[in-house]
Amino acid sequence: MKKVLYEELLPEEFVQRMQEMPVAYLPLGTLEWHGPHMPLGADGIQSKELFVRVAEKVGGVVLPILFMGPDRVFHDHEKSFYGMDINTEGALHTYHVQQLKGSAYWLEKELFQDYLRSIFAQLSRAGVRIVVGHGHGPSIHAFQELTKEAEEKYGLRIFTAWTYAEDEKLKYQNDHAGANETSIVMAVRPDLVDFGQVKEDESNLIGIAGRHPVRDSSAAFGNEILEYTMKTLISGIEKEYKEIKDRQN
Ligand SMILES: [Zn+2]
Repeated sequence: MKKVLYEELLPEEFVQRMQEMPVAYLPLGTLEWHGPHMPLGADGIQSKELFVRVAEKVGGVVLPILFMGPDRVFHDHEKSFYGMDINTEGALHTYHVQQLKGSAYWLEKELFQDYLRSIFAQLSRAGVRIVVGHGHGPSIHAFQELTKEAEEKYGLRIFTAWTYAEDEKLKYQNDHAGANETSIVMAVRPDLVDFGQVKEDESNLIGIAGRHPVRDSSAAFGNEILEYTMKTLISGIEKEYKEIKDRQN
């Protein structure tokens, strides 16, 4: 096992990893209700576990998980509701607007993007040339919006685990606590999934978008998603790095 977590590296180890592959991985997390059966930090956990495995194979450093992220917001008198608090068309079961238990992650998109800009400036200064961000859906979109700016202002190529993945079914974290995300957590951190928390009548199986998390999930499917994503992401990183080197010569 290689050391890949940024915070654990000695300075010379960091320099060496940058020489091998100047890529930093940014897990875009949340602390957000992911059904009764999944951990609140499911978004960051899934992307971090993917990135650790990719970094061990292709090089680079994995940044700490960001736990704040943007999402849709709905204000009703004094109360505010975020993301999956609000029922949407893709929801597995209909439910009333409510504050889902444990969610604590929301910040304005503009503020989040300013935070990303600071991270880009600092990483560029440290020698990073590629930043891969992935995790919470709305954070991925806010990150992606900065692609042109990251290149022009900070000399960074930025992309996500979706950029080079074409198979819709196997895209990493493409639902909310449905069969896709549940299967991924079953594959990478099986100790954190507890189907015993789902009530018999499924009355607490709310705030979920995607296929049924109990009936349609499996560690095997999670591993299939993981392996597909690792393969497409690694070839994407190698392609981008080759382009960067070709441009230098
Ligand atoms: Zn999620």
